[in-house]
Amino acid sequence: MKFSRHTKALAKNIVENCTECGRCMPDCPFLQAYCKSPKQLFQKFLDDGDIDPEIPYSCLLCAHCTRVCPQQLKLDEAFYSMRKDLIKNSRKRPLKSLRGVYFHQRFSYCSLFTTVNKGHGKATSKEEK
Ligand code: SF4
Ligand code: SF4
Repeated sequence: MKFSRHTKALAKNIVENCTECGRCMPDCPFLQAYCKSPKQLFQKFLDDGDIDPEIPYSCLLCAHCTRVCPQQLKLDEAFYSMRKDLIKNSRKRPLKSLRGVYFHQRFSYCSLFTTVNKGHGKATSKEEK
C-alpha cells in the first residue's frame, strides 16, 4: 500500500518530536490498545511503510492528545491522512465494516432513491392569500 508524502511527513514529525512523556496515553483507550507510545507506533509505520487499516480507523479524531501534548503533536491529523491514502490508493475497501458506509454513499445519491421537489411553478392566487 502506497502512502502519500504528506502522511509520511506527518508521521516523521511525530517520531522526531514525541518525547514519550505519556501524557496522551491515560485518556485514550485507542492508543493504549495499539502502542506503548505514539513515537513507537509511527516509527513502525515508517519502517514497515504500511499499517493495519484498523489502526487509523480506530482513532476517534477527537484531538484530545494534541491538547495535552507538550509538543502539540497532531496524531489525529496523521491518522486521518492515512485514512485518506487508504481510500485513495487501495483497490479494495480498507475495512469490511466500511461496506455499510460505501452503500449508503452510493445509494443516497442514486436517482432511483432520490426525489427532487421541483415545486409547482408560480403560486396560485389562492395560495398567495
Ligand atoms: S485523536 Fe485519536 S489518538 Fe488522539 S486522543 Fe483522540 S482517539 Fe486518541
Ligand atoms: S503527549 Fe505528545 S510527546 Fe507525550 S507521548 Fe503523547 S504524543 Fe508523545
